Amino acid sequence: MTPSPRPSTAADEVAALTSDLIRIDTTNTGDPATLAGERVAAEYVAEKLAEVGFEPHYVESGPGRGNVVARLAGADPGRGALLVHGHLDVVPADPAEWSVHPFSGEIRDGYVWGRGAIDMKHMVAMTLAVARQFKRDGTVPPRDIVLAFLADEEAGGFHGARWLVNHRPDLFDGVTEAVSEVGGFSLTLADGVRAYLVETAQKGIMWLRLKVRGTAGHGSMVHTDNAVAKLAAAVARLDAHRFPIVLTGATREFLEGVAELTGVPFDPDDPETAVARLGSVARLIGATLRDTANVTMFNAGYKTNVVPSLAEATVDGRMLPGREAAFEKTLAEVLGPDIEMDWDQLPPVETTFDGRLVDAMTSAISAEDPGARLLPYMLSAGTDAKSFQLLGIRNFGFAPLRLPPELDFTSLFHGVDERVPVEGLEFGTRVLSRFLLGS
Ligand SMILES: [Zn+2]
Repeated sequence: MTPSPRPSTAADEVAALTSDLIRIDTTNTGDPATLAGERVAAEYVAEKLAEVGFEPHYVESGPGRGNVVARLAGADPGRGALLVHGHLDVVPADPAEWSVHPFSGEIRDGYVWGRGAIDMKHMVAMTLAVARQFKRDGTVPPRDIVLAFLADEEAGGFHGARWLVNHRPDLFDGVTEAVSEVGGFSLTLADGVRAYLVETAQKGIMWLRLKVRGTAGHGSMVHTDNAVAKLAAAVARLDAHRFPIVLTGATREFLEGVAELTGVPFDPDDPETAVARLGSVARLIGATLRDTANVTMFNAGYKTNVVPSLAEATVDGRMLPGREAAFEKTLAEVLGPDIEMDWDQLPPVETTFDGRLVDAMTSAISAEDPGARLLPYMLSAGTDAKSFQLLGIRNFGFAPLRLPPELDFTSLFHGVDERVPVEGLEFGTRVLSRFLLGS
């Protein structure tokens, strides 16, 4: 067997690694029966690391639920380690809707196409490419770097990050800070004016189950205590309710930064107008101005002529940092006393945009894109950062990527024709390498 030629830099192999990872279908619907290739992807990652001399830990949380963790020793063992993590699973994709097959990993028109190209096999590939180059070159980073490639993020991480945090915290010994997805991407605000958004906060999650009881009976009778009607009215009230606008630290800092960069002033009393000017990221930022509570499932009844005694619904609630108690109280008030509620809750994530790690992000971006500015922002969704927070780790979204101004980046997440520009990937790989060396 002839060995493949050694790539000269990480950027040279990042597109091929992304493409390889996309070709491994790691669809995660949340139902273990439909689980696809998480194990194959984890084995691929472990092999790519072992090939250059890493000693990766392959850890299964359950059948097929592969996770890989490796460590690169840094120059100063007295400093806390930096965790770089990425998930290997993806959400489903229907080939009939796509321009290219979602699991082809095809490279066409300057893009790598396929499910996971943005969420988040690109970052997995960039991390692998940089780690492999460091190992080949004998590069010693300033502090320990822990690399984690994880299962199950798309279904809450209970067989990935959360499982490792609960069962193998030893793998993250000494980790004080972490970087991962949904941050580090560029946003073009005007001709040649680029900002890179670094995620410093995430809204909290409250997944509610609602229940209403009523009087059962024949569908032909007069009913004044109908569980289905009571629940329908309650969720309609919730849908109509608008939670107050609250400008939290990250969102305020972000909008102030945009105002400075564009010269268009920002009125703190009217952030919605400022958000509406943001183009493709308006929806992303708009969802962080207030709490939200969307009804997502409704289940009641079993026969046309029977009024059932029970109706149930689920609500996906997301609250801003500091709003946990107020959110819970408002839900109870809006839904009313008839509604029984119970829920699963994951707290908000929040850190400040400062310190040596942020300086390293800034220098790395500035070196590759002079004049660009980094801005913190809050993510309305949740990531594996929610699990790592339980270990006291400070979390950032920083998966550097330069994007062409016309690309509607946020619509690619879980979207049709998900793709990542090859040039952006190569740029991101160079930035990631500089960042890790400066961290
Ligand atoms: Zn993701």
